[in-house]
Amino acid sequence: MAQETPMIKQYKQIKSEYEDAFLFFRLGDFYELFFDDAIKAARELEITLTKRGSKNEQDIPMCGVPYHSAEQYISTLIEKGYKIAICEQVEDPKTAKGVVKREVTQLITPGTVMEGKAIQENENNFIAALYPFNDKTAAFIKADLTTGETAAAVLGNQQSEWEREITRSDIKELVVPPDFHEDILRGSAIIFSIEPSVELAPEFEKLCEQWSNEKLQKAVALLTNYFKRTQKRALSHLQPVRIYKPNEHMQLDLHSRRNLELTESLREKKKKGSLLWLMDQTVTAMGGRLAKKWLEEPLLNIDTIHKRQSLVESLLEYFFEREDLRDRLRHVYDLERLAGKTSYGNVNARELVQLRRSLQELPNIFTLLKKLNNEYAGELVDEVEHFHDLRQLLEDSLAEDPPLSITDGGIIREGYNKQLDEYREASTNGKEWISKLEQQERSETGIKSLKVGFNKVFGYYIEVTKPNIPSLPEGRYERKQTLTNAERFITPELKEKESLILGAEQNSTELEHKLFLELREKVKKFIPRLQKTARIISEIDVLQGFALVSEQNQYVKPEFSNDRTFTIHEGRHPVVEHMLNHGDYVANDIFMHGEREMLLITGPNMAGKSTYMRQAALISVMAQTGCFVPAAQAKLPIFDQIFTRIGAADDLASGQSTFMVEMLETKHALAKATPNSLILLDEIGRGTSTYDGMALAQSIVEYIHDHVGAKTLFSTHYHELTTLEEAMTKLQNVHVRAVEEAGEIVFLHKVEEGKADRSYGIYVAKLAELPKDVLLRAEVLLAEFEQTAPSAEQSGFDKTYEEQVIQSQYAASSEQESITTEEYPEQLSLFQPEQKSAYVSL
Ligand code: ADP
Repeated sequence: MAQETPMIKQYKQIKSEYEDAFLFFRLGDFYELFFDDAIKAARELEITLTKRGSKNEQDIPMCGVPYHSAEQYISTLIEKGYKIAICEQVEDPKTAKGVVKREVTQLITPGTVMEGKAIQENENNFIAALYPFNDKTAAFIKADLTTGETAAAVLGNQQSEWEREITRSDIKELVVPPDFHEDILRGSAIIFSIEPSVELAPEFEKLCEQWSNEKLQKAVALLTNYFKRTQKRALSHLQPVRIYKPNEHMQLDLHSRRNLELTESLREKKKKGSLLWLMDQTVTAMGGRLAKKWLEEPLLNIDTIHKRQSLVESLLEYFFEREDLRDRLRHVYDLERLAGKTSYGNVNARELVQLRRSLQELPNIFTLLKKLNNEYAGELVDEVEHFHDLRQLLEDSLAEDPPLSITDGGIIREGYNKQLDEYREASTNGKEWISKLEQQERSETGIKSLKVGFNKVFGYYIEVTKPNIPSLPEGRYERKQTLTNAERFITPELKEKESLILGAEQNSTELEHKLFLELREKVKKFIPRLQKTARIISEIDVLQGFALVSEQNQYVKPEFSNDRTFTIHEGRHPVVEHMLNHGDYVANDIFMHGEREMLLITGPNMAGKSTYMRQAALISVMAQTGCFVPAAQAKLPIFDQIFTRIGAADDLASGQSTFMVEMLETKHALAKATPNSLILLDEIGRGTSTYDGMALAQSIVEYIHDHVGAKTLFSTHYHELTTLEEAMTKLQNVHVRAVEEAGEIVFLHKVEEGKADRSYGIYVAKLAELPKDVLLRAEVLLAEFEQTAPSAEQSGFDKTYEEQVIQSQYAASSEQESITTEEYPEQLSLFQPEQKSAYVSL
């Protein structure tokens, strides 16, 4: 049996406490990883896997990273969603008896990381905790360690609500109690961490001072105990926990947020191409984060919406003030994260200079805001701090342009500390004496090339070239170093000055370091005030961005109706419009008032049906965040929720069948929607056979019509459904128009009253450049069907022509009487680039 060395024993013991993390085990100048950790890390980090072994030891897989460049490796692992336990040597190896004592000093996780690549400027980095107290309700809290922001809520309705809160994009990690069943949150790719203790520690009691909900306190305890256990440092910047109600904002579930491309595009999962990308014209990092949050949480409170709108309006009116404001905001650094770093104890002098710069800009910003003559702007300015005290402190103490390092001096300004000034003067005087010395020695010895120099090993010296050595007076100089062409000497006087200078310099850097640490402590006291100001500045930044985007794209201020009227005159899809050349976007109206509650939208593929539906939702979201909207005029209800079932791009990855996802989402919408909600259903039922699909589509329309009463946009390729209009009072047909000119289709993208007369599937297939043979054959078959099949309208529910094409091709080889499209999905897809039907040949 191989024997374990004491160090490996120690390693295993520590590792057993951090099973779910990479253990970075400090060994001299390296962090080493062993066993499975090493194998996995070598792969993830692309570093060499080696072995550690001795006579009595079996080979142990090992890899390592130098401690001074560990940061980048840690960032890479964090970005990939791993946790890292940093295990340091906690005693001096020189004096240690036996194995050096080691301890985990910090656990870095995706939710607790404070710097590096994983932290995005314009995104929060939330860690959350969920404490279920039965299988329906849970206490929930989220916190961002980098900014100190916290918010908590009691979540009901079990999974859908839990999932909605937890899957918000900026939550990176979820802390749960040990008995938590992770599969409750099946869909999310979140990192879980376990924390056993739910008793609130006294030092965190002040976080919940303003309220007393015992259940919520459990969640706060869960999270703060996790911090305490893993971070092992002060977290004084955590803000008092704000309690929110999950339904105080417009509710958008994960699918709707994705489908509407609110903060990232469906395809590339990037900000570019999303609504946020367009609307976020902020110039500060804090503003960027808030813009994202606002878009994910549109308001329900009309007064708050009006306040935001009024400020946007004033900012539009006062063009020059707004431009000026924008320029000034650019000088405001990330106050929230600076506060976070100050509390965490890793803020450096350069960052405090950023803070100083930001504070210097505040008065100008407030003056500009006052000029807007806007009530809300006035309220904000009144709430905000001016920070004369902190600004004065930073101006008096910090040098103009201090270095990154906080231990090498050059940080503290003259006049801040008397002792420091004395040290500095001593050093300066000494240096002056030395610079005079060169002249003096030259004239005394007559050696013109004599130099006085300095190096780290010998300190100050006098250098004389070899040919001049004989001219030196005897006994005065002590030889210190011989070079090829010269000799270096010292004198007792020189050494005396030297020790004075070096002593003064050392004293002064030490004192500077001490003064800086004291300064940092003083700044800490300002953290809560800074956080409040940061919130206000971010809000102003987002709103000036709204004004800018509204101006650039000619948006209008929407009105809100209290009779559920939903009318948009000449509305545009903000992002599609932005991507097209100016003027190419065809504006469309939406009229839904009185009895008109549901629109059934027909029209050819690619005509613009889903763009029209999305446009309705996006305009509502923009309006409820306080922004102006892309329309000539808009009167909107306050929607409590938006449900969407659009597009299928994201379903492929989830492992569930598209049809199943479609049904689940529809179920969710039918169960949760109220008359104040907006439902968008795009081509429901297309994932199953025609009879099935059409039957489902119709019954869903009927159900919403009779039981839900939500505003609904329903697009369909089942032309048969257009007859529903006759029997259903609240349903109206509209269609997106296309015209045929010389055998080519022109999509007009214009939404008009009434149903579409045909769809143009084969034409779209042509656009998609399907092989010519396929297109020709489809046209021939279609012509045949048109002769033999009864028209769709005559037959009511009927198979689509694609199905008939398939049936005619495969019926011969099949025993089955009725072959549905589901059984031949790949053949079907040949005829339908977007799975839509073609009734008519061209
Ligand atoms: P459908 O849902 O009917 O298949 P889409 O809504 O996906 O069609 O629209 C197809 C394309 O047509 C869009 O990608 C967009 O480029 C263009 N489009 C849609 N609506 C408009 C419009 N109102 N004005 C200009 N182009 C539009």
